[in-house]
Amino acid sequence: MKKSITPGQIKQNNRNRIYECIYRRGTKGISQQEISSALNISRPTVAYNLRELEEDGLIIKSALPDSNQSGQSGRKPSIWSADSDYKIAVGVEILINEIKIIAINLYGSKIKREVIKINFTNDEKYYKYISERVKNFIDSLNIHDASRKILGIGFALQGLVSDDGKTVIYGEILKCTGLKIEVFTKWLDYPCIFVHEPDGAALSELWVSPELTSAIYLSLSVHLGGAVIYHRKILNGMHRHSATFEHIQPEGENNLCYCGKRGCFETVCSMSALLGDDDPEDFFNHVREGRVNESKRWAKFLDYLAKLIANLHLFIDTKYILGGHLAPYFTENDVKILYDKIRESTPFDENDDFILISRMPSHNITIGAALPYIINFLKDAGVSY
Ligand SMILES: [Zn+2]
Repeated sequence: MKKSITPGQIKQNNRNRIYECIYRRGTKGISQQEISSALNISRPTVAYNLRELEEDGLIIKSALPDSNQSGQSGRKPSIWSADSDYKIAVGVEILINEIKIIAINLYGSKIKREVIKINFTNDEKYYKYISERVKNFIDSLNIHDASRKILGIGFALQGLVSDDGKTVIYGEILKCTGLKIEVFTKWLDYPCIFVHEPDGAALSELWVSPELTSAIYLSLSVHLGGAVIYHRKILNGMHRHSATFEHIQPEGENNLCYCGKRGCFETVCSMSALLGDDDPEDFFNHVREGRVNESKRWAKFLDYLAKLIANLHLFIDTKYILGGHLAPYFTENDVKILYDKIRESTPFDENDDFILISRMPSHNITIGAALPYIINFLKDAGVSY
């Protein structure tokens, strides 16, 4: 039986639609008249909701810039825009030798960022120190009423995390399997979650790509990782290890992987496998200059990457996004090489239309760690992403 809608739901629905309309307009702002026409909601109802949203602090009123040269008098219409700092979320990326912290606003834009060099150790001293640094970082934002404004803190790390984000269920890189979020919440008075690093990166990609529906995201960073995006959701799977294709084993390889097995793609197709201790800038400069050693290593890397994508593409025929720290170094010609190699091994006439380079290579993981909080807040306020 279809349930009837209560007056309370209609009221909430109007408020959400009006907020969404204002939010989507961004910094340009929108007038009451435009909102009323766009949503087909009466002007008194719009006016009532604008007052409420303004009182609650979600939107800001400003006067329309004076472009009127005709000498007309009368009141200038007000322009409404969403207060981008109404809520803030914090993302922290935990790496083996440093942490990166970022604060983002409701548009996912960076407010402030900080990098701290510190070696990871799985002990209370480390977690207490990191918590203090995060606290200092939040203090430095000079936010009035931070406990109300900050939605939460996402900690991205190289490990699989439980569905509720409270436990690291596989953390072999940092040797922290079983880690509980309490190691942070005992010091930090904010909601906190763990985020699997490639999931954070994929979430960032979705955030900047409104037209993206489904794809396989390949995180080509220090370690290889990935995420399956399906209808704008990240599929983690029954045991949360979907898209861990870094542990698929191509034939003929025997290097030891951190997982304890031998010959995984991680050992030939990650940034650490490609570069060792080399600096990526120097390495790619040498590749583009045509130096033999670096060119050979890059060609071998592309060979394995093509093999990986060719296999995955037979399984899931979708877009493949090259993301992670290596993404900005790919050239058009590199992608062409990948297509050529993929065509050599697949029975289908593949078009050059399914490999994309990430749109958001910088700060994508830290931003992605904070985004779950922003996305949830906006969803409740009526804005789907
Ligand atoms: Zn492995």
